[in-house]
Amino acid sequence: MHVLILGGTTEARQLAGLLHGTPGLTLTSSLAGRVASPRLPPGEVRVGGFGGVDGMTAWLREHAVDVLIDATHPFAGTISFNAADAATTAHVPLLALRRPGWVPVEGDVWHGTGSLAEAAELLPALGQRVFLTTGRMGLSAFAHLDALWFLVRSVDVPEPPCPARMEVLLDRGPFTLDGERELLRRHHIDVVVTKDSGGVATAPKLTAAREAGIPVLVIRRPPTPQGIPVAADPESAAHWITRRHAS
Ligand code: NAP
Repeated sequence: MHVLILGGTTEARQLAGLLHGTPGLTLTSSLAGRVASPRLPPGEVRVGGFGGVDGMTAWLREHAVDVLIDATHPFAGTISFNAADAATTAHVPLLALRRPGWVPVEGDVWHGTGSLAEAAELLPALGQRVFLTTGRMGLSAFAHLDALWFLVRSVDVPEPPCPARMEVLLDRGPFTLDGERELLRRHHIDVVVTKDSGGVATAPKLTAAREAGIPVLVIRRPPTPQGIPVAADPESAAHWITRRHAS
């Protein structure tokens, strides 16, 4: 059985770890190639786009893929729709591994927005010193906000256009609550911007913001293809795959 995992997430790596070494199962993980030094999952890894739906369909056929797992990030909208179309055309069963979104709890001051552009519009009314954790792509949406100061945290160095008043912190999760508290305090942060990525690795910033009474602009998830089975965690996805493998 050949399993192709579309990855780029912690959960995709964890799933590869759970499946690696299963007798009779061949595993390939696919990465987009956006990050300069990605954390690699165990097993075979291919890097780079497939060339749209047609390219992915051809890849599934040429490599005799039996099961496709879309374990990409909730904000990677294009690849998820491509996977749905390619799986249908190539008659390959598809499972989405998608971590649940975050849910506000008492004390959270969250403002939901539909996009980075909308977040940029709302931002000046909420604070002056921004902790921006939406990744290095899409910083251009905030580039015109000259009156605000930004602490930008990303895995790789952002490319212009970027906000004029900005400090870049190169880092990747998981992050600790103590570390996030200290960041907010040291940089006098008064507003946080995040995607609704979900998961535990990057959630401590939300707790730290709640404790400090700091508002959080939460960018809502883009739509995902409907009618596809979804696993909320790597263990459930591994179970789904091994059940098919056994039958
Ligand atoms: P996207 O907009 O959905 O995808 C754009 C194109 O990148 C796709 O059409 C595909 O190219 C290629 N691609 C994306 N994921 C791929 C994968 N796993 N393997 C091979 N090709 C892939 O995706 P994105 O938002 O740029 O994200 C790129 C990758 O970073 C994803 O794998 C995602 O899991 C990871 N990531 C994204 C975010 C985020 O906030 N967007 C955060 C953390 C990690 P072709 O059409 O040529 O096949």
